[in-house]
Amino acid sequence: MTQPLLEVRDLKKSFTVKTDLFGRPTAQVKALDAVSFTLNAGETLGLVGESGCGKSTTGRAVLRLIEPDSGSVRFEGKEVTSLSPAEMRPLRREMQLVFQDPYSSLNPRMTIRQILEETYIVHGVGTRDERRDRIESVLDRVGIRPDQMDRFPHEFSGGQRQRIGIARALMLNPKFIVADEPVSALDVSIQAQVLNLLTDIQDEFGIAFLFIGHDLAVVEHISHRIGVMYLGRMVELASDTDLYATPLHPYTQVLLEAIPSMDPNVKPARASLRGEVPSPLSPPSGCHFHTRCPHKKPICEQLAPPLAEAAPGHMVACHLYSTATASPVIEETSTERA
Ligand code: SF4
Repeated sequence: MTQPLLEVRDLKKSFTVKTDLFGRPTAQVKALDAVSFTLNAGETLGLVGESGCGKSTTGRAVLRLIEPDSGSVRFEGKEVTSLSPAEMRPLRREMQLVFQDPYSSLNPRMTIRQILEETYIVHGVGTRDERRDRIESVLDRVGIRPDQMDRFPHEFSGGQRQRIGIARALMLNPKFIVADEPVSALDVSIQAQVLNLLTDIQDEFGIAFLFIGHDLAVVEHISHRIGVMYLGRMVELASDTDLYATPLHPYTQVLLEAIPSMDPNVKPARASLRGEVPSPLSPPSGCHFHTRCPHKKPICEQLAPPLAEAAPGHMVACHLYSTATASPVIEETSTERA
């Protein structure tokens, strides 16, 4: 079996939100509660869930932009979490990040050329002329005219700035990019262009993406597989076709029902999601979703269901699927984009 490019196991991260007079933590949020998944070379895994579910924290913890408390992140078989800063440096070339807000991630006092060249200078790449040639080539690839490289970020539109953000991520020929809500800040008309650019880049360079989003239609468009997160846990993980055709977890089912229909007479099914969103400071016991779940059983309040395979390639964390007989028939896994 081929080794995945990225293998994440039981990743945990808590943030202290309150301390006592002596600085000791008195309240903590479990942002990640044993998150596990794999990502293959050239594949896109979409991560979805409501705000605060831990999807952005997952992306940053995988890149070690924040330090996970425990768990394992293996990139090309190498354990990332135990590397020193010096050992991480060569790996940073391979693992890049595209931010949600391209404007705040680009230094307004630097030209585009300076911003992009900084990446090469930090990593000691090429001569001045080689760096210039490479910057021109990457800008051209993302649809920015190279003669615009001496302009400042404010001279570009939102869509162009995100293209520049993507160019910056591509400068060092990465194998893996975390794209953290890369189109959320863009007009709908521009979103499709940027998504198509990411898809073209993946086809051309074989880059794997961890694509974080909250718009299920956008995530479906670009992902081969999709993970659904709820209050710091992965609750469902499946191919895009399986997830949308046969969602198993009650939370996923509600999320998909809530996608607005193109038909103005069809109302979104928000009403089927019961109760308030629990506070991440004191998440419900057992299955975190039990306070809102229409299928709750007594065991759900006591025991957190493990993420287990309910059908080939289709993982779900729900007691409804804890026996083989409860597993519904799932279509064959596909890696084709919708
Ligand atoms: Fe609902 Fe129980 Fe499944 Fe949680 S484990 S989603 S409460 S049925």
